[in-house]
Order: sequence, then structure tokens, then C-alpha cells
Amino acid sequence: MIDIDLLKDTTQIPGAPGYEYRIRGFIKEKVGSFVDELKTDPMGNLIAFRKGNSGKKLMVAAHMDEISFIVSHIDDDGFVKFQPLGGFDAKTLTAQRVIIHGKEDIIGVMGCKPIHIMTAEERAKPPKIQDFYIDTGYKAEQLREIISIGSPITRERSFIEMGDNVNSKSIDNRISVYILIEALKELEGQELPVDVYGVFTVQEEVGLRGATAATMGIDPDFAINLDVTLACDVPGIAGHERITDLGKGTAIKIIDGRTICDYRMVEYMKERAAKGNIKYQLEVLPKGGTDTASMQQFASGGSIAGGISIPCRYLHQVIEMVNKQDVRASIDLLKACILSLGEYNWEHK
Ligand SMILES: [Zn+2]
Repeated sequence: MIDIDLLKDTTQIPGAPGYEYRIRGFIKEKVGSFVDELKTDPMGNLIAFRKGNSGKKLMVAAHMDEISFIVSHIDDDGFVKFQPLGGFDAKTLTAQRVIIHGKEDIIGVMGCKPIHIMTAEERAKPPKIQDFYIDTGYKAEQLREIISIGSPITRERSFIEMGDNVNSKSIDNRISVYILIEALKELEGQELPVDVYGVFTVQEEVGLRGATAATMGIDPDFAINLDVTLACDVPGIAGHERITDLGKGTAIKIIDGRTICDYRMVEYMKERAAKGNIKYQLEVLPKGGTDTASMQQFASGGSIAGGISIPCRYLHQVIEMVNKQDVRASIDLLKACILSLGEYNWEHK
């Protein structure tokens, strides 16, 4: 049902925003044989193209970058200061290991002032990102031989299976990278009603930047974005704040912080899910943007855009968790949506 080895590798390969070359190389190898054409645009978006039967274009996006950091300073004792690339909750940095990508990859630990020597006032305050530094164990001289200001930094955490779920760093958004690879693989050899541009985008976590450029290049008629969404089905959260539940199916996006999905695309997705017996829930995400927004707004005249979201617990932490059945349902819904796109009446009401 799920190719665990492929999913595992997809989560573990680094891809800081702006430095996605390693994950891009990996994806190229995986999808190259299933598509008609594979190209990387100047900004770094990887575009996997399949020719369809009509002149219409569908863009399917999955961002391949992950929230990361970048080295901003190395002090004379060898401690590293950094800037975040993407939205971090500072408390999740405590006691984490990271990988600094210089001439070689080196491990570091996120350090901060020990609680034992904090004043009562310091202890009462939540930590700030600026409170942390990275300790690599190297002396400054040795360290400067390996890394420099501008070296990207990603998080270190292995991939595990837990019950019917998987847990890892960077499930956001490698789960969608995986889903797009699998969908392209399973659609190999099938006739498509529209040209399909499967785009593995760059720099989503710093503001949907790659998708904006890719959309202007492709100019799609239709757009489907793949990304995770919050599953707050955990203790202490009221029913109306859950957004989605793990294990209750894929999620059809209605809105997020930057997009009101096209009502026709929402209806179409619901119809396809019902016809294909695909379990789904509806996502109303009050905050946070996705590449859906770029694809909707930066096509000429706008595109008919929507999103397939994968419920995920502990978003933007190194212990992100998704359910295998939800992942399978997401692949199935994406495929069903691609294959029937020509059969729906897309006229405005
Ligand atoms: Zn994401």
C-alpha cells in the first residue's frame, strides 16, 4: 500500500529552502522514467511533464523544501549562530540535533542557557530563536575549514513506523513529494485528459516563492496543491479546533490563510472522492499559506485551484506524524482528479 523505503528516503534527504539540489536530484532519479519530459526551471523547481489529450494544463505542486536554518556567524569558541528559513516555534528547538551542510555534513546540537543558571524571570519566559546556538564539538579553526556563513542547516531525525502511522522530520512536505512520485508512477502509460505538470517546488517555507515563478512559467488552467495540514486530534484541543483527524482520510482544502479554493474544484474533488469510495474530510485552515495561493493567483487570469491536504500531527516539529491510509487515500484522490478532469463542467455558476 505504501512504499516505506521510498517514503523513508524521501524524508531523510536534505533540502533547505534555496538549497534543494540534493532532494531534487533524488526525485529526478525516481520520476524520470515515468514522464515525457523532466526539466528544472531557473529558480530550481523540478517540472515533470506528461502530455495529455486536450490543450488544457493542470499543474500539481508539492514543495520539496523543508524548514531549515542558515549559518550567520561562527564565534571564536566555535559556536554557530543562525537565522531560520521558515516558521519555527522556538520551544521545539530545545535539545535537537541538526546537520550543517558545508564541504561535508556535520552534526550539531542546539544549545541554550541551562535552566540551573537562569534567573526566575528568564525561566518564566518562553525561549526565543535568538537564545539558541549550535555546538558542533569542533574548535573554531577546524569548523571554519568545513562550514562558512551561508551554509544551510537541516534537522536530524530518523524515520520510524508507529502503529498505522509514520513519524519523521520533514513529513512536511516530503509526504506530498512521495504522493506525487507515486501518482506519476501509477499513471504511467494511461491516457491523460490534460497536460500534467507535476512540479516539485522550491522555497515554499519562506513564502511560496518557487510556486509563484513556476506558475508564471507554466500558466496552468487548473491547479492542485499537495501539502500537509494540521491534525489537532490530540488531548486538550476542543472539537471545533481540530481542523482534521489522523486516520479519517485525505483532506479536501476549502480555505487556508492565503487561499479560498475554487468552489468548482472543491465540488469536483468531493464528487471524485465519493465516486471512488475514497475517505475524505474537509479542511478549513484559519492560518498558514500554501502553494495553492501562488498557483491560483499567478496564472494569467487565475487558475481553477484547490488542494489535497494530508492530516499531520506535530507540524513543524521533528516528530511529524501521518497515517498510512490517509496517504494512500491522497494518492487515490489525486489520480482520480487527474483522470476525470475533462468530464466535468467547469463553467461558472
Ligand atoms: Zn508544507
